[in-house]
Amino acid sequence: METKFIKVDLNNVEKEELKEAGEILRNGGLVAFPTETVYGLGGDARNKNASKAIYAAKGRPSDNPLIVHIAKFSQLEEIVREVPENAKKLADAFWPGPMTLILNKNDEIPKETTGGLDTVAIRLPSHPVARELILESGCLIAAPSANTSGRPSPTKAAHVAEDLSGKIDCIIDGGEVEIGLESTIIDLTEEIPVILRPGYISLEDVIAVTKEAKMDPGIMSENKKVRPKAPGMRYRHYAPKGNLIVCEGTKEAVVEKINSLAKQDAEAGKKVAILASAETESLYHYGDVFVLGSFSHEEEIARNLYGSLREFDEKGMEMIYSEAFETPHMGAAIMNRLLKAAGHQIITVS
Ligand code: AMP
Ligand code: MG
Repeated sequence: METKFIKVDLNNVEKEELKEAGEILRNGGLVAFPTETVYGLGGDARNKNASKAIYAAKGRPSDNPLIVHIAKFSQLEEIVREVPENAKKLADAFWPGPMTLILNKNDEIPKETTGGLDTVAIRLPSHPVARELILESGCLIAAPSANTSGRPSPTKAAHVAEDLSGKIDCIIDGGEVEIGLESTIIDLTEEIPVILRPGYISLEDVIAVTKEAKMDPGIMSENKKVRPKAPGMRYRHYAPKGNLIVCEGTKEAVVEKINSLAKQDAEAGKKVAILASAETESLYHYGDVFVLGSFSHEEEIARNLYGSLREFDEKGMEMIYSEAFETPHMGAAIMNRLLKAAGHQIITVS
């Protein structure tokens, strides 16, 4: 299949440019598009065959449900059994934006879209292209991240093309995304809201709105017996081909440890990468240093993480040492993805 590329000017998103993409979606085809979090791979959420095609293009396990993207709150009411008070409050506070709500579904959305579950994940994105595409197509758009299953989520159209070119109908290029980590997923099917996946919207942000909320104990745990509730959080994800190890502790101790490990590997002839911050970049003396960003701009660190994980593979890095990025607001989300990519290999120094 030939994949069509559509380039969109974000300052001036024209309906005309998205017309063809809308038609592809209505006909059951697949379109990758930018959102404020990462690029999504979209299909008509009400069309089982479109959902099946999404799983096939990504090589995604069929029990890992998709997120349904809407453009108006009234579209949520069309697909759920009831709208709890917390859904209204959270939507008021964070939609349009990087938040996904899990609610009990009605029969509008087929089980092929929800990985066989009776619940459905719903997001109302803020990105102008995502919103226009939903409205133009007249579909609710089921969209997981637009990467091959297991690889880091795409933060620019070139990443999508790397993974899915020739396998999907269309890629809309809207430049680099803003946030760079997937949405915060909040399960509202139980008494207390539960965060199933951390993201830009933090636990504290949620508690400020709903008074009570908790993290799914399964997500940060290495203990295989505590299973994450979101099926997608159970899979190996984001891991580069090289061996990634995270080092945590005081800044000085971390720099010293990484320098000594990197020296050993470099002397043994291995290709070594170091994932550092703007503040520590100049303190490393071995290997290739990749700077995610400054600790004073944690958004930058989040936005650059997935692109760096992809670059390690492109450059054939064999050993990768990363600092821990426990930043104040997005630290939980960043560390969740980083530790997954590292297969939970972490060294603590002091
Ligand atoms: P992705 O958009 O690729 O980040 O994948 C969607 C994420 O949402 C995966 O981690 C899914 O497991 C999760 N998800 C989607 N629907 C549900 C649901 N009904 N219950 C729990 N998790 C869900
Ligand atoms: Mg994904």
